[in-house]
Amino acid sequence: MSNDRVYFFDTTLRDGEQSPGCSMTQHEKLQMAQSLADLGVDVIEAGFAISSDGDFASIETIAQEVRGPVIASLARAKTEDIERAGQAVKKAKRSRIHIFLASSDIHLEYKLKISREQAIENTAKAVALGKTLADEVEFSPEDATRTSHDFLCQIVGVAIEAGANVINLPDTVGYATPSDYAGMFRVIRERVPGADKVTLSAHTHDDLGLAVANALAAIDAGVRQVECTINGIGERAGNAALEEIAAALRVRADRYPVEHGLNLEKLYPISQQLAGTISFGPSPNKAIVGSNAFAHEAGIHQHGVLSNPLTYEIMTPASVGVPTNRMVLGKHSGRHALRSRLIALGYNLAPADLDIAYRAFTELADKKKAIYDLDLINLVAHHQRHEDLIGEAATETIARSN
Ligand code: MN
Repeated sequence: MSNDRVYFFDTTLRDGEQSPGCSMTQHEKLQMAQSLADLGVDVIEAGFAISSDGDFASIETIAQEVRGPVIASLARAKTEDIERAGQAVKKAKRSRIHIFLASSDIHLEYKLKISREQAIENTAKAVALGKTLADEVEFSPEDATRTSHDFLCQIVGVAIEAGANVINLPDTVGYATPSDYAGMFRVIRERVPGADKVTLSAHTHDDLGLAVANALAAIDAGVRQVECTINGIGERAGNAALEEIAAALRVRADRYPVEHGLNLEKLYPISQQLAGTISFGPSPNKAIVGSNAFAHEAGIHQHGVLSNPLTYEIMTPASVGVPTNRMVLGKHSGRHALRSRLIALGYNLAPADLDIAYRAFTELADKKKAIYDLDLINLVAHHQRHEDLIGEAATETIARSN
């Protein structure tokens, strides 16, 4: 992997999906995965294969159908987990098994009830098995930020020796500060033989509101894969928000002279797609994708922005895909306005579908004063789900008739 490129590892469908209110159907996951591929992420963690048959099926379908990103499944350092993960990602063009094993004393003693020696042994075995079942193996010592540096160096060294391609050091509980986190990676780079031959990865949580800051600090310390989610969804306070890391790398390219494969204009559409799929959207003041992220109300600010947007905007809304044309859609709006807003949101409907969407839109507009982007996405998603149901029923009939 090139040294000046940052790889985006998206875990919206795994760490994100396992948090309250965020569950998605198999079909919704496939649609999200396709949009993540369009956005240009490098790796999609599509699920945790052994956790359920549904998760397994989602990963398998995504591995089969989504092209571009590496497709990964999570696995504990157990034979049955790793084998199940290997089966799920088998049909991917490039497959990865992401194996994790807790390394902090508190997790080893109270959760896994194993010694450090057993953890080392399990790591070596698990990584070696993973290598036989997928193109790449990523290893994560869970709760790395509460693990002693000596033991962390030892377990990472063993994983590298066993063939791990990526070493991810997760701040599982959102405990680290940016300088702690960067320091930990520097220790690994200085002390572990072979650390320069693997990709180091950051996985950060927002319990202290530091997830994105920690990811950027890791990049400063030489880390070249960042694990993140759309809208920052994830366990507890969430994971690092992909859109925030991406925008920081763009706006502060002077500070972070690195490349990546994302198309930032897709950030807002995918944020809205996720919001329409799960039970909540980003808060209005959420950076980059919140509804107020580019709104100016104070008179002095409005005057400045009208004279020159750079007075109060460090990036243009268009650069992250936020529609600049803020026409309000309501019951007096026509088909044309609806179509152009849907295109801005990433839905280019065929004329017949647009007719259906327009009818549903006018019904909704009779009930609501203003129609927001999220309403439109829900409306289109509802229509697509309806079609899928019809499609599934038809397939069933054919199957029965055979
Ligand atoms: Mn996590």
